[in-house]
Amino acid sequence: MENTKEMRNWLDAFKLNHPFVIAGPCSAETEEQVLKIAHELKNSDVSVFRAGIWKPRTRPGGFEGIGEIGLKWLKKAKEETGLLMGTEVATAAHCKLALEYDIDVLWVGARTTANPFAVQEIADTLAGTDKIVLVKNPVNPDMALWLGGVERLHMAGIKNLGVIHRGFSTYEKTKYRNIPEWQIAIELQNKFPDLPLIIDPSHITGNRNMILEVTQEALDLNYDGMIIETHIDPDNAWSDAAQQVTPDALKQILKDLKVRKVSGDTADFEQKMTKLRANIDVLDANLLELLGKRMKVADEIGQVKKENNVAVLQNTRWNEIQEKMVAEGAKKGLSAEFITKLFKSIHQESIEHQEKIING
Ligand code: PEP
Ligand code: MN
Repeated sequence: MENTKEMRNWLDAFKLNHPFVIAGPCSAETEEQVLKIAHELKNSDVSVFRAGIWKPRTRPGGFEGIGEIGLKWLKKAKEETGLLMGTEVATAAHCKLALEYDIDVLWVGARTTANPFAVQEIADTLAGTDKIVLVKNPVNPDMALWLGGVERLHMAGIKNLGVIHRGFSTYEKTKYRNIPEWQIAIELQNKFPDLPLIIDPSHITGNRNMILEVTQEALDLNYDGMIIETHIDPDNAWSDAAQQVTPDALKQILKDLKVRKVSGDTADFEQKMTKLRANIDVLDANLLELLGKRMKVADEIGQVKKENNVAVLQNTRWNEIQEKMVAEGAKKGLSAEFITKLFKSIHQESIEHQEKIING
């Protein structure tokens, strides 16, 4: 993709002095619900009201969205509040209806981004539109697939583009509903620094108590904005109840977020440092996560050694590991001295763990 500078024209046109905010319920439920929430959100930092009209559900039988009638409610909400309206589209039929009802922001959902046929169908239907089209990351952690979605839209002549980071599916149980895998979004951001990048802390956390911290992490990484699910009565929402916040809670979150306003000579320096430090924090967290996992495997080895009455220290194996890592490290510009020290220390910790297991 060339001409990425013009990708943020739509965002610059808002002339905001704060991050870009999309907010509103996971799903449009009733006319009253839509209008009530929209009225609560006008005269705030919110630029776009979101509401799902068609909901992709993992298993049939859940609430699959209110359908076309909801678009009428959004139109009314726009007339009454002046907020722009946004919704998810997944098929050609959705796109046609959304355009017919003059929806301003269309986003491609995570399940749809994972399917190039579906994205192509959307791109063909929206070809040349001046609506804002945002691409959520695919459910699986694949940067190329995410980028591919943006490219298909871009090739269809759509200029007002952006991406939404909503986290990735994993079979592992974590504190997140969808793990952020920040490094994937950072890689995309490094490749296309002008492509607007929006955080979706609601679907990352699945938990309203974690919305603030995840949004703050994103702002520290220089994200351009956020999409936060907001409902007048979150606990009784027809979808995603646990992660939605009330309009008041949203306003508090927006107040609590630390937006680093940079100005003057040091602005560029400050901005670069904040971003790089946030980058390092993400990598350090990944390092710790990996070390923890490695130690769990070492513990299992200890258990097997115990069952088979084998000594903890296996010198040949250890020498092999060390030689291999020194060679691999050299390829990454890491000195043999550093690698040896690092792995000695990791190895020592493993031995201590295993000794406890064998003698315990
Ligand atoms: C949503 O925004 O309500 C939604 C369904 O999101 P995702 O595609 O990220 O699951
Ligand atoms: Mn949702």
